[in-house]
Amino acid sequence: SKAPIAVIGTGIAGLSAARALHDAGQAVHLFDKSRGSGGRMASKRSDAGSLDLGAQYFTARDRRFGETVRQWQSEGWVDQWSPSMYQSHDGQLKPSADEQVRWVGTPTMSSITRGLLGDMPVNFSCRITEVFRGEQFWTLVDATGVSHGPFSQVVIAVPAPQAAALLSSAPKLAAVAASVAMEPTWAVALGFATPLNTMLEGCFVRDDALDWIARNRSKPGRNGELDTWVLHGTSSWSRQHLDLPKEAVIERLHGAFAELIDCVVPAPEFTLAHRWLYARPAQAHEWNALADAGLGLYACGDWCLSGRVEGAWLSGQEAARRLLENL
Ligand code: FAD
Ligand code: NAD
Repeated sequence: SKAPIAVIGTGIAGLSAARALHDAGQAVHLFDKSRGSGGRMASKRSDAGSLDLGAQYFTARDRRFGETVRQWQSEGWVDQWSPSMYQSHDGQLKPSADEQVRWVGTPTMSSITRGLLGDMPVNFSCRITEVFRGEQFWTLVDATGVSHGPFSQVVIAVPAPQAAALLSSAPKLAAVAASVAMEPTWAVALGFATPLNTMLEGCFVRDDALDWIARNRSKPGRNGELDTWVLHGTSSWSRQHLDLPKEAVIERLHGAFAELIDCVVPAPEFTLAHRWLYARPAQAHEWNALADAGLGLYACGDWCLSGRVEGAWLSGQEAARRLLENL
């Protein structure tokens, strides 16, 4: 009975699990509803070049993750980003340099998940809507009604609200996933023909509307015609303005940016808004990963640990470890 293992989700959690399983000699098949890998750490292609609209950078506090990031660096998938960092206090900007090592994918965030995917088999543009177990094997059904299988085990690596729906074979796991609240984030990109006259390259704002600002070209390997900036709304502002039209979101966050930043902000040449509905878990958990070893059903993702790239990667490792331990 050597059916492959299905991994649903090609974000960093799913690819962390899939790589570990593949490296242990298991056959893996991945699925993702998007056209490419990366999930919330994907970079988006746009008329202003590739943009990091989701994860902006990541830190490595766990020893194993730190070692892995060093390997990614030697593969050429990541590099350090050392922005001229600021923070805002009551609307006032202040330089806020620190010693924190911060990493980004190069030349785009997606380089990491693309590298991890390698030549493992994957179905993109394939949204899984049902996961069920027959007598011996698992079958997945996609949104167009097509069945995929048989699979020996299934690893679900999607945000908690979406995982809950796919975990119905294991009601206890489904209930845990359903208990996780996830917060939205509005992301806006602004591209300027003339570089803005500021030193600022990254800024923790945590204001009413704005949470974070980053200057795209300050990241290693990014080059574009325009001086492009990424703005993130806070969770609460984003929740309150969840259904605001994109043009209005751009206008509001552009306004907050222009008010905050210490230079003249002309009309942008390029604008784009993206709504992340499940951007981050409202709180951290210590679940590592969810497992029903008897059934052969596993779940992982940032929501099982911290809502960060590192947490998602560690959760994927843990799902793979538990699966292998139960073979
Ligand atoms: P995801 O990346 O969400 O991956 C899940 C994948 O599953 C997606 O590719 C999705 O398309 C797919 N999928 C979902 N449902 C289905 C389905 N039914 N069928 C098939 N495929 C499906 N972290 C940091 O460490 N530093 C940061 O600076 C940072 N900033 C962030 C800013 C924003 C705006 C956002 C949104 C996130 C940020 N994060 C940051 C968090 C970080 O991006 C996430 O913690 C991490 O990428 C989550 O990885 P994941 O694999 O658990 O989930
Ligand atoms: P980190 O260590 O750089 O930052 C952690 C937190 O410490 C920051 O949020 C900030 O509040 C504070 N901080 C760090 N350096 C600072 C400085 N120089 N000046 C002022 N404050 C500073 O990174 P991390 O722990 O890996 O966290 C990842 C980041 O990703 C966080 O900022 C988090 O808010 C963000 N994130 C955002 C989303 C989203 O949906 N918008 C989701 C997940 C994570």
